[in-house]
Amino acid sequence: MANKIKYRVEGGCVVCMTCLYQCPVKAISLIEDVSAVIDSDKCVGCGRCYNNCQPEAIVPYEVEEWERKL
Ligand code: SF4
Ligand code: SF4
Repeated sequence: MANKIKYRVEGGCVVCMTCLYQCPVKAISLIEDVSAVIDSDKCVGCGRCYNNCQPEAIVPYEVEEWERKL
């Protein structure tokens, strides 16, 4: 069953790479070495990236019902 909460990277990423190493499903990659980005299709909402991002660049958001059915 899909989680209701997922996470995305907003401004403030300093490319420390912590979240990339923490993500259990490898949902996070880099965009041209300037910011991490989370693949919402892969993210299982565990919150590890969010809990370990020092500059608080990662934020939770609620997944809409239609997206969870995809
Ligand atoms: S942990 Fe935060 S600052 Fe570090 S790469 Fe991930 S999003 Fe960027
Ligand atoms: S919430 Fe968990 S699964 Fe989703 S991107 Fe962060 S570490 Fe990966």
